[in-house]
Amino acid sequence: MSHVSKIELRGFKSFGNAKVSIPLSRGLTAIVGPNGSGKSNVVDALCFVLGGMSAKLMRAERFSDFLFNGGNGQRPAPFAEVLLHFNNEDGALPINSTTVVISRKVDRSGKCVYRINRKRASRQEIVDMLSKTMSSPGGYNFIMQGDVDRFIKMDSFDRRVIIDDLAGVAE
Ligand code: ATP
Ligand code: MG
Repeated sequence: MSHVSKIELRGFKSFGNAKVSIPLSRGLTAIVGPNGSGKSNVVDALCFVLGGMSAKLMRAERFSDFLFNGGNGQRPAPFAEVLLHFNNEDGALPINSTTVVISRKVDRSGKCVYRINRKRASRQEIVDMLSKTMSSPGGYNFIMQGDVDRFIKMDSFDRRVIIDDLAGVAE
């Protein structure tokens, strides 16, 4: 199974203008910190680079809200970019390289550019490639803050919809 070995962010939400690199080892990684320190912003960054289409699900009104808005003596970012490094030594992703880097960049106008190993790509190419690893922001492999509460409070009909969806029989 391919795994994400590194997340790089530049100008994304609270992460400022300098490049921030988050290394991830295999297995469980926990990110801890005080309230408001940017833990959920890391998950938003993952959903963003994986092709998330709803700004609201990534806790923003519009895509331009992903750009670092300045403060602490720093200027607002001209763009926000997230890069995801996949370790592909086992060839799980259909690309002939041991590391696959997918990225998404958004500018102030909200225009997005996706890349696979630095080459321009469409969102669909990325979504298709990653569907093999079951990584999608709409998939239940992301449990967002508040989701567990939502699942517990759901009625049995709504919970059934999720189970059907996961089992692939919703249609
Ligand atoms: P909690 O423990 O409460 O869940 P958290 O660590 O998950 O907190 P986040 O929700 O990831 O925190 O981060 C919220 C912070 O991100 C807020 O301080 C907010 O001001 C900041 N933030 C959000 N968008 C931007 C932006 N565009 N530019 C700068 N800062 C931003
Ligand atoms: Mg949070």
